[in-house]
Amino acid sequence: MKKYQLFIDGEFVDPASGQWIDTVDPYRGEAWAQIPRGNAQDVDRAVAAAARAMRQSTWTDMTATARGKLMRRLGDLVAREAERLADIEVRDNGKLKQEMLGQLRYHSEWWWYYGGLADKLEGAVTPIDKPEIFAFTRHEPVGVVGAMTAWNSPLLFVAFKCAPAIAAGCAVVVKPSEFASASTLEFAALTREAGFPPGIFNVVAGYGTEAGSALVEHPDVAKITFTGSDTTGAKIYATAAKTMKRVSLELGGKSPNIVFDDCDLDAAVAGAISGIFAATGQTCIAGSRLLVQNSIREAFTKRLIETAKMARIGDPMDPATNIGPVTTPAQYQKVLDYIEIANSEGARCVLGGGPASGLPGGQFVEPTIFVDVAPKMRIAQEEVFGPVLSVLGFEDEAEAVAIGNDVIYGLAAGVWTRDIGRALRMSKALKAGTVWVNTYRAISYMMPFGGMKYSGLGRENGIEAIREFLETKSVWVSTAVGAPANPFVMR
Ligand code: NAD
Repeated sequence: MKKYQLFIDGEFVDPASGQWIDTVDPYRGEAWAQIPRGNAQDVDRAVAAAARAMRQSTWTDMTATARGKLMRRLGDLVAREAERLADIEVRDNGKLKQEMLGQLRYHSEWWWYYGGLADKLEGAVTPIDKPEIFAFTRHEPVGVVGAMTAWNSPLLFVAFKCAPAIAAGCAVVVKPSEFASASTLEFAALTREAGFPPGIFNVVAGYGTEAGSALVEHPDVAKITFTGSDTTGAKIYATAAKTMKRVSLELGGKSPNIVFDDCDLDAAVAGAISGIFAATGQTCIAGSRLLVQNSIREAFTKRLIETAKMARIGDPMDPATNIGPVTTPAQYQKVLDYIEIANSEGARCVLGGGPASGLPGGQFVEPTIFVDVAPKMRIAQEEVFGPVLSVLGFEDEAEAVAIGNDVIYGLAAGVWTRDIGRALRMSKALKAGTVWVNTYRAISYMMPFGGMKYSGLGRENGIEAIREFLETKSVWVSTAVGAPANPFVMR
């Protein structure tokens, strides 16, 4: 069995604990590798290496153009290794090979895009209202960044976080999910091959409550960027406040996918399926609340059930598979518990509703659809993170907006209509960081991504994201001759 090491200061090293954690293939239900159990001591070492790397002339004297070139080289290396890294992610999180390979083939774009942005972080000269002053702003790296990622798309989140952070001139310490750390540790070797100075990119794998919390508490970490649940996000936010860290949080969702009766029905059915059953529903942007206009609700639900029934459950490596296993035993149990809750609340199950049997590993859930769901039921309010869809009806736009916004989350929303005016009105009224019109589950390195309300703070991707890793410094230069007339008053 492969035994991984931590990556600190450009070297693979054993964890201080001398302990490793089995990482399990969710399809087979068997451990396939061991990841190091990093702790506060390892975090200390990694943060010290990162802080040192940011002070050293190899980094401080490197031009932003040269930094960008390094990043683009890393992008090239990921492109070379995409298939191998995708296979590792499938073994670790059980998501479909097609999905993980798609992500890994796309991953390089983040390094190419932000590598190109590295030398375009221009400050401004302000035509200040004081004639003797020359004033300008400069953007500086915020400092050492601690990045925590979730298990569902490990290296995609590394790209979301680390590409803008490093383009900004920061050094990072990544704490990947204990359920899917292997690909991030493999990726670390590519940063070395690309020629990153030691300490600029570090990985301390381990448990969230050991390595993760040590990173959040560390006084020399300036910024935390986190992807995970809102419960953990809130804890991190509170802890980070004690050392005044900057914080970005990408958290959960309960996104409404809203179907009007004037939509292209085939496209909307495919969008609804993709919204909830892709990635076995284990995606923050899952369209887990399907709002269908009452005039077409019955007919639409019928078509939805017919299509969902055709989904093939099985081996995530098989290109014919549509739905793979749930990643962890705890998550599997949580999904089954929510099915129970929905039943007890009076929602009516019209498809699935239990474990899918006859497969190895035992962590499969049938694609499940509930109708007769009322907006206040827990199944319509809380994140399940599994292949469980709630179908709700609505009469008109106003009701769709009211139901759509009536949850604590605000990550994403879908709108299906042929009416452009309605599409634009809905995109304005919905409280979500992303609104897709006649499409769903699309992302790009160029387009800001993030949540409102309990779905998080800050934005990843696009030019905006780099500001999360910069401080603006205002520089005032006096061109006056001689001393000020009165040193006791504000200038
Ligand atoms: P999680 O909150 O359990 O863990 C996320 C990461 O935080 C892991 O690396 C974990 O080890 C670490 N962690 C846990 N406790 C910690 C602590 N006290 N201090 C510091 N770090 C800690 O989430 P998960 O189960 O890995 O992921 C699923 C959740 O992530 C879902 O809620 C999902 O919606 C959300 N998610 C959000 C996005 C987004 O971009 N908005 C994307 C994917 C997943």
